[in-house]
Amino acid sequence: MTATRTPGMPVVEDGFLISTSPATGAEAGRLPVSDDKAVDAAVDRAREAGAWWAGLGFDGRKVRLLRWRALLTQRIEELAELTHTETGKPVTDAIVEAIAGIEHVDWAARNAKRVLGPRRTGTRLLVAEHSGHLEYLPFGVVGVIGPWNYPILTPLGPISGALAAGNAVVLKPSEYTPAVGQWLVDTFAEVVPEQPVLQAVHGLGDVGAALCRSGVGKVAFTGSTATAKRVMATCAETLTPVVIEAGGKDALIVDADADVAAAAEAAVWGAMTNAGQTCIGIERAYAVAEVYDAFVAAVVEKAGRLRLGEEIGPITMPGQIDIIRRHIDDALASGGRAVLGGADAVQPPNVAPTVLVDVPDDSAAIREETFGPTLTITRVADADEAIAKANSLPFGLGGAVFGKANGIRIARRMRTGMVAVNSTLSFVGMASLPFGGMGDSGFGRIHGDDGLREFGRAKSITVRRAPSLLPSMTFERTPAQVRRIVKAVKLLYGRRP
Ligand code: NDP
Repeated sequence: MTATRTPGMPVVEDGFLISTSPATGAEAGRLPVSDDKAVDAAVDRAREAGAWWAGLGFDGRKVRLLRWRALLTQRIEELAELTHTETGKPVTDAIVEAIAGIEHVDWAARNAKRVLGPRRTGTRLLVAEHSGHLEYLPFGVVGVIGPWNYPILTPLGPISGALAAGNAVVLKPSEYTPAVGQWLVDTFAEVVPEQPVLQAVHGLGDVGAALCRSGVGKVAFTGSTATAKRVMATCAETLTPVVIEAGGKDALIVDADADVAAAAEAAVWGAMTNAGQTCIGIERAYAVAEVYDAFVAAVVEKAGRLRLGEEIGPITMPGQIDIIRRHIDDALASGGRAVLGGADAVQPPNVAPTVLVDVPDDSAAIREETFGPTLTITRVADADEAIAKANSLPFGLGGAVFGKANGIRIARRMRTGMVAVNSTLSFVGMASLPFGGMGDSGFGRIHGDDGLREFGRAKSITVRRAPSLLPSMTFERTPAQVRRIVKAVKLLYGRRP
């Protein structure tokens, strides 16, 4: 018997996880649920596949990853359509997301050898008879746990880094978006048919927990701060290292010399793209008094033009609607005003663009992740006050600044992992830049050199190239040699600078 389904709510029936469109309720994906045994079996297969994959070397993996990149690109419309069905997001949003994901595959493939490959390190005078060698070896198998809001991009960041580093990957996509996850796995298998180097396991949170316990070498988690804590606790049982990409409450600062029209355009995009369901989405804007009125007016004008069902899709996770409603209601009840949208904006499964002003600093709309097409705008005296307010939350993911003279100075003072100056969200598409947060937004990095190193373990080797002139590391050293060593150390390090 099939129970009545809420559009967008995944269900498990007869051992299958079924995902549906939040807009229409149409079935999007039907994937077999993996029990603990199936997760362990997938990780066992991955171990063998990982050894084969690592044996291909950087060049062998590069060519295969670039073939996958080409396939993803050729079939980008198909991927975007599937993502649209499963999440409800507009096809164009899914295309933009896929392009960023493809960028990361390309970059990781091309740069892994440079970043992780063997190199000589500089030696030191006291051990000059040895040469130093460093390389980054794969963990074997990396578990990737992903969210539903960007089901292409968020897994592709860690997947591309982990694969390029020589690991096999077992992906646990969100229960809301299993079909997109499986699509990524299936296309990879088309270009790498020899071994299951990239696999997916499906199901609810317990499947993610099983993956954490399965003995993988590392877990890359992207999701909420609350789940991140559970993932870390589970990984702690086996001392499995983790990368945590968690939630955010990103701020945009508009300084006095900003191009206000450009700031408003970027604020609306940063806050409303993907209906605001973006970890690095702009949820708070702080505009200095000189430009505040003009900025609010421009944001309202631009956001007011967005159409539900066109630029703004439905809320993917039905349960999120209550959170968005609570934040709007609480802001209005505590003295805030809606200059666009407001309480009536919540029309499940949609939420219309909402811009709130005069919202108290301690309200949920300012302090908690809303994950809807909403934006608070707060008037501040100057950039210093804006920075203090922007930095006042436990989150520290991304952010943005609009301004001319002090843009980079302000960016540096924001307590976040990334900041865009005179744009929003742009850092996520720049594959050469590391991506990740601090505080409640997590730790560790994906993307860029740091993101590649996250998926390799440093292996240090010394090789003797001559007998020791100052032999300290042997019981056979003589008292005279020890005196020479002391002399040498004093000569090298004994002088005050
Ligand atoms: P969740 O934390 O609810 O879920 C993330 C993943 O963890 C899902 O696959 C989920 O599975 C799985 N999971 C749930 N419980 C466990 C468990 N006990 N052990 C292991 N895995 C588990 O996040 P959402 O999917 O709701 O994603 C939205 C959140 O992700 C937002 O907070 C957003 O800011 C954040 N995010 C962060 C990004 C970043 O890069 N920093 C990027 C994108 C989103 P299931 O779905 O089956 O429950």
